[in-house]
Amino acid sequence: MPQEIVLIILVALLLFFPQQANCSSVLPAAEAFTSRSVDTADRNITPKRMVKPLSLRKIALTFDDGPDRINTPKILDILETENAAATFFVVGEKVERYPEVIERIFQAGHLIANHSRTHADLSGLFNEEIIELELDPTSKAVEKITGYYPKIMRPPYGSLRPDSVRFLEEAGWQIVRWSLDTFDWDKERNQPEEITERIALQHHPNAIILMHCNGWETVEALPAIINTLRAAGYDFVTVSQLLGLESEGQPPKH
Ligand SMILES: [Zn+2]
Repeated sequence: MPQEIVLIILVALLLFFPQQANCSSVLPAAEAFTSRSVDTADRNITPKRMVKPLSLRKIALTFDDGPDRINTPKILDILETENAAATFFVVGEKVERYPEVIERIFQAGHLIANHSRTHADLSGLFNEEIIELELDPTSKAVEKITGYYPKIMRPPYGSLRPDSVRFLEEAGWQIVRWSLDTFDWDKERNQPEEITERIALQHHPNAIILMHCNGWETVEALPAIINTLRAAGYDFVTVSQLLGLESEGQPPKH
């Protein structure tokens, strides 16, 4: 009968459309949830008392091979905007060339550390030469500008003989390498998204992150790096704050 058919169609429509309405309202919410990072999602549903320990996680951003006139000032601009502390392992020859950038790093409260004078492979030098030719001239150049003589050093390429490690430590030098290499120095794999993703996957509490002042890619990636790590609950500290090293004479930190 036509009336019965109409009734059946009406019932079918009532059953069908609410289901459609449910699907269309549920799906975007589900997508929105899964598209958020795990950390952000966790923080939204974690009770406040559970969030607090996350804010105690510390991480150190480090920038090697500066200063320069192009990238280092941009890095400093971003760190200032984000109110994030960092450590700059500087090369003595460039310290002499760009004293105004060293002054700015110092005044901003970042830590300045020694990365040799000529970016030499220190494993090819006698122990005395490492200090006399590479470390001391660099720290003296920093001291001339800031009044601060860095005793924290990172060997170029991470390259240092075991006997040199002992020699430098006995002479009061503090050697700091890194725990997370961003590969921002490698043109084959240093697009900004790659750098950011590497950090997003490999970050860990008390990480020392290796970056450089040499490339636009690092500058481009830096805001996203900071946002990613902040969302994961990290505070940005200098390596001396992270490792409890001596760095007397530096201005107040962030
Ligand atoms: Zn270097």
